[in-house]
Amino acid sequence: MEALTLDERHHRADRASVVAAELSARDIVAVAITWIDTSGIARVKAVPIQRFSHAAAWGVGASPVFDAFLVDDSILTDHFAGGPVGDLRLYPDLDRVTVLAALPGWAWAPGDRYTQNGTPHPRDPRLLLRRLVDEVRAEGWQVRTAIEFEWSVSRADPHNPDRFEPATTGPAYGMARVSELAGYLGDLVTALRDSEVTVEQIHPEYERGQFELSVAAGDPVYAADTAVLVREVIRAVGPAHGVRAAFGSMPAADAVGNGGHVHLSLWRHGVNQMYGGTGPFGLTAAGEGFAAGILDHLPALLALGCPTVASYLRLRPRSWAGAFRCWGLENREAALRYVTGSEGERERAANVEVKAFDAAANPYLALAGLLAAGRSGLRTGAVLPEPVAEDPGRMDEPTRSARGIDPLPTTLAAAVTAFESDDELRAAFGAELVDTIAGVRRGEIALFADAGPEQITAASRWRY
Ligand code: GLU
Ligand code: MG
Repeated sequence: MEALTLDERHHRADRASVVAAELSARDIVAVAITWIDTSGIARVKAVPIQRFSHAAAWGVGASPVFDAFLVDDSILTDHFAGGPVGDLRLYPDLDRVTVLAALPGWAWAPGDRYTQNGTPHPRDPRLLLRRLVDEVRAEGWQVRTAIEFEWSVSRADPHNPDRFEPATTGPAYGMARVSELAGYLGDLVTALRDSEVTVEQIHPEYERGQFELSVAAGDPVYAADTAVLVREVIRAVGPAHGVRAAFGSMPAADAVGNGGHVHLSLWRHGVNQMYGGTGPFGLTAAGEGFAAGILDHLPALLALGCPTVASYLRLRPRSWAGAFRCWGLENREAALRYVTGSEGERERAANVEVKAFDAAANPYLALAGLLAAGRSGLRTGAVLPEPVAEDPGRMDEPTRSARGIDPLPTTLAAAVTAFESDDELRAAFGAELVDTIAGVRRGEIALFADAGPEQITAASRWRY
């Protein structure tokens, strides 16, 4: 990626003036420009609308120290990103400026961080994802993706703000839960529509207070931005209904966790490679290679998609979280679930779903990892092992190992070790970013070294 030129800056200023005038006409007074830090938290700098054009051309100051922030806002001081010196510039993406319908007066734009010289910041996850999308496209492929989002709704308790008290009592997937929170859910669907999010489905999940939202698939940068936007809209709608949303991997120690499952399909010249081929269940060779690349790198990818200590309380057998490294047609206990959709729409709809990833993941890092892994399988023509058509958690250990089904890492430490020794991911991410991610993960492991499940979930459920 090239440095920003003066011409580009002028062009950005002009475009941003037009956007700002449109926003002002809709009573917007400020724009929140977000980036997601290494730990998965949305951080923000905001500008009043009068300053938006300047921000688009010259960026807004943001310290590189945020790369070294941990989930509790402490900072890795011994890391090169952790010092007080230096500054970056955060630029709003003018193609994704969106009115935040649930926050009156506010608009939102995802930001990209550059150095003061106008060169891309080497540790910026959104720029990394954009670069990988461009590289994959240059090789002739497109990836369409969507992140399916689960969150837990708690009653807000001003006297005890850290407490989690599920806001529904009705049965799992029960219509009763929709009735209990009909006002909240209705306002949420309205706010998402007014923030240009294409909702495909919303429903109560298994755990009390838990809901799920599916959105339309698109380009990976679009999908990651949408995941950020969805989270902020959900967060914003709660207070008027006396509820609060928990996006942590686990809302409570004894709960079923919040997945952030990633659906992916690979396309070439407008044709979906996940169906219509001669491979298993109709996969094409390219689709199979892409899926196999993801499966191969999954232990390392967990450092991105299951990024918190709490993630490993979620990633257990028999919770539909995909705790085993295997794949299968519509198998909800396989880390990689192959989804074909209905006869008649498979050409369009077939995809693979990474079940193991959770809601706390930085979506840019998670999708960048999946793209890099999928691309490596595509390049080498990787093939999938035998599909698994039963619950791997109910097989005995000798049967599992005879079939090559490994449990995924059961701790964040094990995932980080796999991540650091993954040459493919290191080449795609760059040594500096790998080191920063591993440093932040280890910092969080140290933070919770003496904590039990209750403390881990209490300290992380409200943070994302
Ligand atoms: N809540 C489950 C998880 O932790 C997923 C349930 C489902 O299959 O949608 O991923
Ligand atoms: Mg679900």
